[in-house]
Amino acid sequence: MTPLVEQGYVMKDREETIRIVTEAYEEARKVIPEGHVATYIPELGKVDPNQLGICLYRLDKEKICVGDYNVRFTMQSVSKVISLCVALELLGPDKVFDVVGAEPSGEAFNSIAELDLNSNKPYNPLINSGALAVAGLLVDKVSFYDMLSFAKKLCVDDEITFNEAAYESEMKTCSRNRAIGYLLESKDIIKTDVEETLKFYTKLCSLNVTAESLANFAKILASDGVCAKTGQRYLSGRTVRIVKTLMLTCGMYDGSGTYAIKVGIPTKSGVGGGLLCVSDKRAGIGVFGPALDAQGNSIAGINLLERISQHLSLNLFYDPDWEDVEIKEKLV
Ligand code: GLU
Repeated sequence: MTPLVEQGYVMKDREETIRIVTEAYEEARKVIPEGHVATYIPELGKVDPNQLGICLYRLDKEKICVGDYNVRFTMQSVSKVISLCVALELLGPDKVFDVVGAEPSGEAFNSIAELDLNSNKPYNPLINSGALAVAGLLVDKVSFYDMLSFAKKLCVDDEITFNEAAYESEMKTCSRNRAIGYLLESKDIIKTDVEETLKFYTKLCSLNVTAESLANFAKILASDGVCAKTGQRYLSGRTVRIVKTLMLTCGMYDGSGTYAIKVGIPTKSGVGGGLLCVSDKRAGIGVFGPALDAQGNSIAGINLLERISQHLSLNLFYDPDWEDVEIKEKLV
């Protein structure tokens, strides 16, 4: 592949990149008051909404970190990407897409209505119903501790811990997910024990990571599954391709389309405020910003990524050769 620099992509030098990221960070902080931390999981309601942090790796360069990039927070829905990777590696796409679709839902992350009315399987693996279906495939085959060590490996972070308080808090209030679980059982999609499946799913949501851990994981996905630090391939090219495609089309819930237009980087959000952001072949980015917008995505995180994507040319569809070319003959 021709190096991106030779293709005309702007690879700013380190000082310039630090300036861009820091300025974007300061601007993005201003929208924090427009968001709110999630409170439907009581433990998340205790998190300070004013935090914001980013860690960015350009693939051929060093990393740049600003703000609360090393504060621990629960992974929540970002863990759906890890479960999907494990399921695809272990069982292959046919078995996975037998129980879950690959289409955007256009509904809220924890929606149940569309599942019962319009479809016999969840729309995609990155919403709650789809992730519960995937958890149902895994719970009898992989232990939670295997999943934890796989998460540590993918995030290149041995310090990832299980946040028991967040887990207990969510288990007490997860009636909706429980309802989804039993609905999936009634449709023969979850064939394992629903309560065990629910615990497995919720434990994965309760892993404590940092923006830096997410950036490490994003960097591996941006490098087609190879860890630059160890030189080892952790995920097959096929798994990584499927995961990145779903992150682009479904990773931001019912805000996925608008986000794809504005930012153009495959991303998965979680209600803990995390964003796992994969600018293919260019950069791996992790963000933490717990104040959320109406869709449950980090409000300042999105604002920050929009600015960075634009100034560092990270949008998947950005082509420096054509972006500013004037149209000579107007079509309309
Ligand atoms: N544990 C959360 C839930 O199941 C994750 C949701 C999210 O991060 O979007 O509701």
